[in-house]
Amino acid sequence: MRRPLIAGNWKMNGTKAEAAELLNGIKAGVAGMQRVDVAVCPPFPYLYLAEQLLADSAIAWGSQDVSEHAGGAFTGQISAAMLKDFGCRYAIVGHSERRQFNGESDALVASKYAQAVASGVVPVLCVGETLEERESGKTEEVVARHIDAVLSGSGVEAFGAGIVAYEPVWAIGTGVTATPEQAQEVHAFVRERIAARDKNIAEGLRLLYGGSMKPGNAAELIAQPDIDGGLIGGASLKATDFITICQAGD
Ligand code: 13P
Repeated sequence: MRRPLIAGNWKMNGTKAEAAELLNGIKAGVAGMQRVDVAVCPPFPYLYLAEQLLADSAIAWGSQDVSEHAGGAFTGQISAAMLKDFGCRYAIVGHSERRQFNGESDALVASKYAQAVASGVVPVLCVGETLEERESGKTEEVVARHIDAVLSGSGVEAFGAGIVAYEPVWAIGTGVTATPEQAQEVHAFVRERIAARDKNIAEGLRLLYGGSMKPGNAAELIAQPDIDGGLIGGASLKATDFITICQAGD
């Protein structure tokens, strides 16, 4: 049985004071939950704060990106070992905003995924199609390409140490959510693609949905057989909304 995971991707938002308030609010709100795993992914500078404030809670923290290099002369980059040093359990890799605004290729994302695994940080691999790709019937082709880059870079075993988040680009920050059926269809496709290489790894792999998930639609999405939780953007910035989504997974 896969444990549901609700993870907040804060993106580039907030101040130090707001981060502390949000972390404390979430901590108080999810304290009694048993069945759901909860994680927050604040901007890099606030990871230390997360470590300080969440160390005595069941909430995990993670980063929104990681370097594809192990270390050395790479100005501005953050290694997986550094994330581990700050207690990060997770690192988001290949978010569509990084693919779009930072020109991240499938091969680069696969290298980041491998670096995270090598340091014992769980990569959360984001996959998903644009509206144009969906409308031209290319959803599966695009998602397969995102998955296959990691399969060919690290082998299927790497999916035993990671998580996949299906985030249709057209649903991110738009208020338009994939229907539970649309999301389930792609999640099942991802699981089948991994199962073709290794059935057990596919069965154990947690698949999150991301894209305008909010208190009003979280429960019906998470109820789908292949949806094991959510990667939450906008709604993770408000403690009450995020806590309600966590309750839907609990
Ligand atoms: P929204 O929940 O704001 O649509 O963002 C989803 C997302 O990109 C999470 O990584």
